[in-house]
Amino acid sequence: MAGRAKKPEQAGKPAELTPMMQQYMEIKQQHEDCILLYRLGDFYEMFFEDARTASKELELTLTGRDCGLEERAPMCGVPFHSAESYIARLIQKGYKVAVCEQMEDPALAKGLVKRDVIRMITPGTVIESSMLEENRNNFICAVYLDSGGIGLCFCDISTGQIQATEVSDPEQAVSELARFEPSEAVVSDGAFSSGPIHQYLTQRLKCHVEQAGERTFLLENAWSLAQRHFELEGPLGQQCGQKPRLTQAVGGLLHYLHETQKNDLKHINKLEIYTQAQFMRLDPGARHNLEICQAMRSGGKQGTLLWALDRTKTAMGGRLIRQWLEKPLVNVSQILLRQNAVAALVKDRPCRDELAQALAKMLDLERLAGRIVYGTANCRDLRALQQTCLQLPLLRQALEQISSQYLQQLRQQIDCLEDLERLIDRAIEPQPPFSVREGGMIRRGFDSQVDELRDLLEGGQNSLASVEQRERERTGIPKLKVGYNKVFGYYIEISKSYANQAPEDYIRKQTLTNCERFITPELKELEARMLTAGQQIVSLEYQVFCQVRDQAAAAADRIQRTAQAAAALDVLRSFAEVAEKQGYVAPEVDYSDRLQIRDGRHPVVEMMLKDSLFVPNDLEMDCGENRVAIITGPNMAGKSTYMRQAALLVIMAQCGSFVPAKSARIGVCDQVFTRVGASDDLASGRSTFMVEMSEVADILKNATLQSLLILDEIGRGTSTFDGMAIARAVLEYAADKKTLGAKTLFATHYHELSELEGQLDGVKNYNIVVKKHGDDITFIRKIARGGADDSYGVEVAKLAGLPSVVIRRAKAILQQLEQTGPGRSGPLPLSRQPEEPQISLDAMADRAVADRLRRLSPDTLSPIEALNLLYELCKQAKES
Ligand code: ATP
Repeated sequence: MAGRAKKPEQAGKPAELTPMMQQYMEIKQQHEDCILLYRLGDFYEMFFEDARTASKELELTLTGRDCGLEERAPMCGVPFHSAESYIARLIQKGYKVAVCEQMEDPALAKGLVKRDVIRMITPGTVIESSMLEENRNNFICAVYLDSGGIGLCFCDISTGQIQATEVSDPEQAVSELARFEPSEAVVSDGAFSSGPIHQYLTQRLKCHVEQAGERTFLLENAWSLAQRHFELEGPLGQQCGQKPRLTQAVGGLLHYLHETQKNDLKHINKLEIYTQAQFMRLDPGARHNLEICQAMRSGGKQGTLLWALDRTKTAMGGRLIRQWLEKPLVNVSQILLRQNAVAALVKDRPCRDELAQALAKMLDLERLAGRIVYGTANCRDLRALQQTCLQLPLLRQALEQISSQYLQQLRQQIDCLEDLERLIDRAIEPQPPFSVREGGMIRRGFDSQVDELRDLLEGGQNSLASVEQRERERTGIPKLKVGYNKVFGYYIEISKSYANQAPEDYIRKQTLTNCERFITPELKELEARMLTAGQQIVSLEYQVFCQVRDQAAAAADRIQRTAQAAAALDVLRSFAEVAEKQGYVAPEVDYSDRLQIRDGRHPVVEMMLKDSLFVPNDLEMDCGENRVAIITGPNMAGKSTYMRQAALLVIMAQCGSFVPAKSARIGVCDQVFTRVGASDDLASGRSTFMVEMSEVADILKNATLQSLLILDEIGRGTSTFDGMAIARAVLEYAADKKTLGAKTLFATHYHELSELEGQLDGVKNYNIVVKKHGDDITFIRKIARGGADDSYGVEVAKLAGLPSVVIRRAKAILQQLEQTGPGRSGPLPLSRQPEEPQISLDAMADRAVADRLRRLSPDTLSPIEALNLLYELCKQAKES
C-alpha cells in the first residue's frame, strides 16, 4: 500500500512557503510513501493530502494553517502524548507513518527549530506494546529470489529475534512464510514477480509488501552490512559465505531496518541460520487443516492445538509455545531433551508450582529489552524490569534439585541480573510518572546534583512558608498568604478588608472581588531561583534516567538470554501441567518407521467434548505391512478426527510434549501432509477440484518415506468414476515402495477401494463402527479391521434434518442404484421415478399434523390454548 499518502498537491512555488512549511515539504519529499507526523509543540500535525487522509481515517477535524500561499494548508493533528493509538490505527489501515521530531529545544533554538524523521513505523517495525499482540511475534521478513534459489530472513524487532534460511523453490519459501506469518515483507524484484510468493503474502497473509530494488539486496553491500552487524566470524560467516541468497536477504532486511528505524538495533544481535531439514515440514495446507495455531473457521486460537496445550504464564512463553508448535523438531536427541524436562516437571509438582508462581509475576523481558535498546522505554518499563528481576532467583531456586539436563541448562542460562535490579531500585522512584520529561523519577540519594536541586526547590518552598509567617507577623494581617499562579508567579494575597494595611514595599499586581494580590522583590528573586532549579532538575533527571536506561541497554544481551530461558521454562511447565491434568504419556520417540498408538485421543476434540467422553482408539502403522490404512465408515463416524489425531500426536511428540494416549511409539516424521475438505481459491482462479488436485500433486511430489500422509476423501470433487479412478491411482502411488511407500491414512467413501487389501502390499482396511437399529444408526467411534459395509449417508442426512420428502426420494434412488450394481455401465438411472403409491409412516404423521393446522383458526384461541396446542402438535410430530 506504499504511496497511499500522496504528495501535497499544488503547493505553489516553494519560495512562497513560510520557512516552516518549506522545512515540512523537504522532509515530506523524502518520505512520500508515509503519512508524516510533524511535531509542532505539543502536537503532531499533518498537512495537505496527509491531513485529508488522516482526518478521514482517524475522524479528526480538518482545519487549516497559513503556509505562505494564498490558500491555507489543510491541517489536522493529534496530541503527542496520545499519538500511539492514532499511529496504531493508521498502521492497521495499511499506512506507513513517519514520525518527525523537534531535534532541539524550541526555547533555546535560534530561528526555525531543527526537525527530522526519527523513525518510520510500518506493520513489521512496530515495537510499542499497545500495537502488538502479547503472545504473538510480529515478524518482518525479507525475500530475495534469483535463478539459483531463495533467501529468506525473518526478524521480530520487538524481541530482537532474527533467523534466516535458503530454499530452492517458491513452494518451500511459502512453507517458511506460513511458519512465521510475517506482517510485512521486503521483497526483491525477483520475489515480487514470483506468483506463489506474492500471492501467499498478499492474499493469504494480507501482508504489507515493500518491493525494494535490487540495490537493497546487492551481495557485496549485504555482506558488509551483515558483517558489521553480526561480526560474521567463524561458522556463522562460513554459512553466510556458502549461502549468498540468505546473506542477501539478511543484508536487505538490515538495510531496510536501518533506513526506517534510524537506530543501530543492537538488540538484534544473534543471527540464527537454519535449514528446513532441521524441522518437520508442514505446508500451509497442513497447518490450516490441522488447526495448529489458528482455527479454520474463526481464525482465532480457540479450538486449536495451541489452545489445548498453552498454559503459559508469560507473554514470552506464549510466543515460544507457538513457535515450537509451528516448528516441530526432527532430531531425536533434541526432542528427548525437551521431553525429559517435561517428564521431570510432571513428577515434581512443587517445582512446577514454584515456577508458575514466579513466572506469573514476570513481565515481558524480551520486549522490555527491545524498548530499552530502542530508547523508547520509560521509567515504568525500568521498574517493570526491576520487579521482574526479583523473580529470577526464585526460578533458579525452584530448579536447584531437579534432574533434567535441559532444565539445568536453562537454570544456568538465567542471569539473576542483580546489578541491574539494584541499579534501577536505587535510581528510579517506586511509582514513577509515565512521562520522562517532567521530573519526579529519580530517587533521593542516587544523584547528588539532583538532590541538591531538589533541596533548593524544597528550600524554596520552606522559604516561601517562612516569608508567609514573617509577613503575617510584620503586617499583623492574620489571613495573609503566599500563593502561585502561572501568570504572575508567586504573590502575596490579602483580603479586601486588610488591603489598605499593605506595606509600601508591596507592589499591587491583581485585584479580585475579595482580595488584592501583591509581589515583592524578595518574592520575585525566590521565584526566579526556584524556576531555574525546577527547569534544571527536569532536564537533569531526564539525563540521569537516560544514563540508567543506557546501562540497562548495555545488559540487553544478558536480559535476552534470561528471557529466552524463562520462556522455555514456561513452555515446558505448560506441557507438564497439561500432561498431568489430561492424563498424557511420554511417547517413545525414535528414528524407526513405527507409529504405534494405544488408546489415542484427539487433544482438542477431547477438551471440547462437554457431555460425553472421547472414545480412544489404537493406531498401528509402519513402512512395511501397515503402510496404508484405508478407512471407511459412515459420515460423522469419526474418520477425520481419527486421522487428524494421528497427525497431531506426531506433531506433539516432535515438539517435546507428552501425548493423549495410554502408550505411544512414534518414529520421527520429516513431513506431515494433509489433504482434507473442500475449499476453492477463487482469488487465484482455481476451482475446488483444482485446489484439491494441486494439493495432492504437491504432496506426491514432496513426500518421502519418512512422511505421514493424511488423505481425506480424495477425488470427491469430481464425478464418481473420475474421482474413484484418481483416488485409486493416488492410493497405489502412495502404497508402492517404488514410487513412495510412506505411511498413509486414507479415508474414503469409495468402498470399492477396500478391494485393494490383499492386492496391494502394505494396505489394510479399517472402518469406524456404527450400530444400526432399523433406519437409525448409533455412532460407536471405535476403529476396527475390515471395510465398512455402507456410508449411511442418507441416515446421517436424516439426522441432520433434511426434509422427509428428500430423504424418501434419496432412499428410492439409492435402491435403484444398488440394484443396478457397481459394475454398471451407461447412464445412471437418476431420473425421477413416479412416487410410490404407499404412504410411509413418516408422511402420515406429517400429514396428520398438517391437517390439524389447516383446520385451525388461531384468532379463536386464547394464549394458553395456543400454547397447549403447540405442545400437542410437537408431541404428535415427535412420536411419529
Ligand atoms: P464425514 O465423513 O462426514 O466427514 P467423519 O467420519 O470424518 O465424517 P468426524 O468429522 O471425524 O467424522 O467426526 C464427527 C464428530 O464426531 C466430531 O466432530 C466429534 O465431535 C465426534 N467424534 C469423532 N471421533 C470421536 C471419538 N473418538 N470420541 C468421541 N467423539 C468423537
